[in-house]
Amino acid sequence: MDHLKTHRPPPELTLFGRLPEGFTEVPTEKIGTILPGPSLIHIEGVNTRPLFVSIMLHGNETTGFLALQRLLTAFGAPHRLLPRAMLLLVGNVSAAAQGLRKLDDQADYNRIWQGDRYPEHLLAKKVLDEIRKAAPIAGVDLHNNTGKNPHYGCINRLDNASLSLARRFSKTIVWFTEPHEVLSIALSAICPSVTLECGLSGDPAGTSHVENYLRHCIELPEETLFTPPPNHHNDLFHTTARINLPEGIRAEFGQSAEHSDICFREDLETLNFERLPEGTVLGHYRKKLPVLTVTDNLNREVTGHYLHFSEGRIVTRVPIVPSMFTHDLKIIQQDCLGYIMESYVAEESV
Ligand SMILES: [Zn+2]
Repeated sequence: MDHLKTHRPPPELTLFGRLPEGFTEVPTEKIGTILPGPSLIHIEGVNTRPLFVSIMLHGNETTGFLALQRLLTAFGAPHRLLPRAMLLLVGNVSAAAQGLRKLDDQADYNRIWQGDRYPEHLLAKKVLDEIRKAAPIAGVDLHNNTGKNPHYGCINRLDNASLSLARRFSKTIVWFTEPHEVLSIALSAICPSVTLECGLSGDPAGTSHVENYLRHCIELPEETLFTPPPNHHNDLFHTTARINLPEGIRAEFGQSAEHSDICFREDLETLNFERLPEGTVLGHYRKKLPVLTVTDNLNREVTGHYLHFSEGRIVTRVPIVPSMFTHDLKIIQQDCLGYIMESYVAEESV
């Protein structure tokens, strides 16, 4: 990652005082014709205290963008007022134009919200300054997965407002504190915030779901928005560890690791959010070890606690609930294989 450090200028943040013409119609790959780069757009509303919404921190995750195009069209923006103002961050515009999570010479736009290693950290600081000034009622960061996952909301604080924001989207809720460099953790110090994982990018059901969710957020009065909805049967999970593919390990999917160091089982992503017993086989390895490492929330290596490498098989050592397992080898290399969660019972009356 160190090549990312060198001498690049920070990406320029463009501020818009109103929704630019053409925003609601432009295809994702042409977004560069409307926005010159990462942009923060103030959209006026009857209630002037805005909802903060973030889309395409990962350029290939378009559900939030498509849902907003529909929502803003339905409300007649920019020519008519929304019920509530919106502060909209459009993140990695240059990667979005190419349909990529990020460009090779960029830092990951959802790992730049703490720290100062990369030029993109300066961009993040400017955005956070503007968000603080705008004092939003809540923040919603919209993402897609590459693997098979339910729609779910992630929170970083276990308060009623955050839980309610997540529960309005899905009964499946994930509470996490790592990776700590994500936008929603920085946001959670400013206002109640949620990250919504909206399934596969471009899936029409996901687009409608997000459109409806955002409509509620700008139509409902604040006290209702933060009141828990009546669905009391939640699955609340806590992310406790992350599974990484060490650099230089060649991975594939299938039956046996003939042409690579590690071979994940073909149906790996169907295991997401399933309660896996100990002894579950995740894949095979050839010789080279370690082919996977697991780190906990304090960044300690805990591989041996969770995984067992024996006779060419990679086996779980304790019961786990995985998330974010993906079939996309590039994402596995750029980010991680997935996360390990455990069920969590919140103390108050959830
Ligand atoms: Zn994402």
